[in-house]
Amino acid sequence: MSTRTRFAPSPTGYLHVGGARTALFSWLHARKHGGRFILRIEDTDIERSTLESVNAILEGMTWLGLEYDEGPIYQTERFDRYKEIIQQLLDSGNAYRCYCTKEELEQMRAEQMGRKEKPRYNGQCRPGAEPREGVEPVIRFRNPVEGAVIVDDMVRGNIIFNNAELDDLVIARSDSTPTYNLTVVVDDLDMGVTHVIRGDDHINNTPRQINILKALGAESPHYAHVPMILGDDGKRLSKRHGAVSVMQYREDGFLPEALLNYLVRLGWSHGDRELFSLDEMIALFDIKDVNKAASTFNSEQLLWLNHQYIMSSAPERVAHHLSYQMGKLDIDPADGPELAEVVKVQRERTKTLVEMAQNSVFFYRDFDSYDEKAARKNLKLVALEPLVDMLNNFKSLPDWSSEAIHAVVLETAERRGLKLGKVAQPLRVAVAGGSVSPPIDMTLKLLGRERTLQRIERAIAWVEAQSA
Ligand code: GLU
Repeated sequence: MSTRTRFAPSPTGYLHVGGARTALFSWLHARKHGGRFILRIEDTDIERSTLESVNAILEGMTWLGLEYDEGPIYQTERFDRYKEIIQQLLDSGNAYRCYCTKEELEQMRAEQMGRKEKPRYNGQCRPGAEPREGVEPVIRFRNPVEGAVIVDDMVRGNIIFNNAELDDLVIARSDSTPTYNLTVVVDDLDMGVTHVIRGDDHINNTPRQINILKALGAESPHYAHVPMILGDDGKRLSKRHGAVSVMQYREDGFLPEALLNYLVRLGWSHGDRELFSLDEMIALFDIKDVNKAASTFNSEQLLWLNHQYIMSSAPERVAHHLSYQMGKLDIDPADGPELAEVVKVQRERTKTLVEMAQNSVFFYRDFDSYDEKAARKNLKLVALEPLVDMLNNFKSLPDWSSEAIHAVVLETAERRGLKLGKVAQPLRVAVAGGSVSPPIDMTLKLLGRERTLQRIERAIAWVEAQSA
């Protein structure tokens, strides 16, 4: 049977790092085995599910490039099918109506807690209960009382659950809506899912799901429960640890490939290797190699990876993502040099695209004022003559190449008997507004002659005004 995996988020928030990793593992498993990857939106909790959240999840998947082969399939569109299966379970005696009231269940629970027992349904209606006036029944699955369920987990190995420990779970609420365990079973079955890869917070649901599948005469898929992700304080990763929404990483200037590489390494490794392209991940990833232990999120490592990818990805690709950041700064990249060229000169010194965008604004828009410290240090009277020299020489340069620009700067320094920095640094502040920019010849080349000349003129006027 060909491999089919699914990612089944509940749309009650954004796509978070943990969800994205589960999606990635499922996607990789499908891609590795020539299978299909299904996206299923588990939106049956009508009160908590929102359209914004569905959109946020889809947006996150798209940004990460985790394309799905089928879906999105919405559970809310499948209620008729769930009803059909619930009826089938009732007809075969594998489910029954339970008329216990909320008060009775609460009392049952309180008594069990009082006896220090695990709270569970006591099976009161299991032998068959008469309808009760004014009580809309729930439907419970008749869980076997004997034997055990062995979950052969691809990550954790065999996990044994005694049926005696599992009570009769509700599969349909009194308003007749199906519950999570029922919908998942029906969907995994109907969608032919062969491998269920999900967070280990679902591990206790798995024996229940296997029992329902058995009652339906179906085989269980293979399961892999991936351990949770912890923050650097050892607590479950949450908002407290900073960005946990995948799209927040986009806002913060990360490349999707860096985040994917980071996510795959959260709980999986291949020797001591750190960098994996998507194709390499597909070739090397094996769900069986995922760690049993929880993994810890490390923002420094993610930043390091981002820098690696900014350096090694095609400049055009980085530019594509940088363009988004430029837009946020109200810059239209068409108003200046090719963004990919900017990437080439900036990438070495940047860890995020936010940083790269901020440091590149001057290529596209005049700055309002000079960085105070840089101006005080560099735009002094001694810089005036070199700036005037360069202005004139740049005006008459036959071709605006970085070599020719470099020659002018060098020659100006030599003629004035100054160190190169004493000439290049004032020039840098003049054109970039501050003391940080790519190599000066590259900077000017990209800035273009017209903008360069204007800015040198502005700096000359500024120095003159300061010393007047
Ligand atoms: N909808 C569940 C969740 O978001 C996942 C269910 C599953 O993977 O079986 O946690």
